[in-house]
Amino acid sequence: MDTQMMDGPWSGRLYTGAWTPALAGGVIDVVEPATGRPLIAVGRAEPADARAAARAAAAAQADWAARGGEARAQVLEAAARALADMAEVVSRWLMRESGSSAPKAAVEGQHAVGFVRHAAAMALEPGGRILASTPARTSVAERVPLGVVGVISPFNFPLVLSIRAVAPALAAGNAVVLKPDPRTPVSGGFLIAQAFAAAGLPPGLLHVLPGGAEVGQALCADPDIAMITFTGSTGAGRKVGELAGRHLKRVQLELGGKNPLLILEDADVELAAANAAWGAWLHQGQICMSTGRILVHQGLHDALVARLAAKAQALPVGDPLDGAIIGPLIDPGQVARVDAIVKASVAAGATLVTGGTHDGRCYAPTVLAGVAPGMPAFDEEIFGPVAVVTAFATEDQAVDLANRGDYGLAAGVIGGSVDRATRVGARLRAGHVHINDQTVVAEPQAPFGGMGASGNGSRISGPANWEEFSTWRWVTTQPQAPAYPM
Ligand code: NAD
Repeated sequence: MDTQMMDGPWSGRLYTGAWTPALAGGVIDVVEPATGRPLIAVGRAEPADARAAARAAAAAQADWAARGGEARAQVLEAAARALADMAEVVSRWLMRESGSSAPKAAVEGQHAVGFVRHAAAMALEPGGRILASTPARTSVAERVPLGVVGVISPFNFPLVLSIRAVAPALAAGNAVVLKPDPRTPVSGGFLIAQAFAAAGLPPGLLHVLPGGAEVGQALCADPDIAMITFTGSTGAGRKVGELAGRHLKRVQLELGGKNPLLILEDADVELAAANAAWGAWLHQGQICMSTGRILVHQGLHDALVARLAAKAQALPVGDPLDGAIIGPLIDPGQVARVDAIVKASVAAGATLVTGGTHDGRCYAPTVLAGVAPGMPAFDEEIFGPVAVVTAFATEDQAVDLANRGDYGLAAGVIGGSVDRATRVGARLRAGHVHINDQTVVAEPQAPFGGMGASGNGSRISGPANWEEFSTWRWVTTQPQAPAYPM
């Protein structure tokens, strides 16, 4: 076993600006999904830790905001450099803690650096506008930080999904309390703390509290927290939205998806199969943007299914440290869920072309054909490596199948005619539509978020970040107070 990387300041600790034990002294045993063996024990936060962190963050925030954008940008630039310098360690943690393949881990690490660099640039952008007013009055609308932002993040892209909120929140002058998923506390939190500490972020502005739902709920109700940004399942997101709403907090919800990839009759079937495989199986299908439905014109159906099956059978499955491209699912519960969806769909009439088996937590890349609405594989987000294939005859039918259900996160359309594919894409209910690409696409510069059950209409990244992580303050100035007639 690779023991070297397990050592770290986070052993038995939380991050509160320093590496400290949890108030009640509990620990979480983090398990390596590929082996099922314990990887490390880190501090386990409880609601009292959340309360203490929020209070400390609120106390530190005003000075940070007063420093101005230039100083904040310098810290963020240094954090981006520190994170880039940690690339090897970051990859290793992503592989061991979240079961990432080596390429997925490398891409996630690079993306994380990109999000911090983008946030550094954001801190240098104009922070307000001069408004029209009466001649004597100077009227300014300025962007001001909210205060303390609570970040609740999931296990699947733990680093990116935490840092894409942490970095812009800090850039806008907020302090942050981050609650990563307790299964991925190091890659989802402590590595970020380490990079920002190395960059000279003043203590108190970033806290990392691994813990369960009760810690997330404590953040949603905390009087010192002004905003919650949550990435995770739609079920948990509803609870977070309700509680944060009751406590009058701004809340940003980035939730699940059942993302369609439409393959039109004039598509190149080789390229379409490569896109469908990537979209459905990257990180074992544990991505909110995973391709959840492959809708293929009936004329290409058999050729596509044959190519997908060949790819599935050729992909190495197992421990990412041994070079596997399809690694483990996060835990046994998720393996059982994926298996139940596959079995129930086959029982309802779908064809199991390949896969449908598992060895421990490693689920074989699976191809299900003849999947129809009403089957769980068609209706539900699977979060496993299952390519769900449905044939269509007409463009209207394809659009109808794509838009079924409540989710509306990402969609892709592949076709020979860009005009036609674009026209079809415009009819899809999704926050992101990719013409001639699969559904798993994200960039720090682009506003990310979904419709319907995929979110609450908020967006994160790119032009959305100022809007989300700050608010307006209107300030007027006059040379002297007016002589009002009262
Ligand atoms: P999850 O909702 O179970 O957990 C996500 C985070 O929320 C974890 O930190 C968890 O501890 C916390 N949490 C759970 N219940 C909570 C509650 N009641 N109050 C406060 N916090 C709570 O999600 P998961 O199963 O670990 O992750 C997979 C889900 O996340 C999928 O549905 C996926 O589509 C979604 N996701 C969405 C995006 C996006 O950007 N839209 C990105 C990645 C994953």
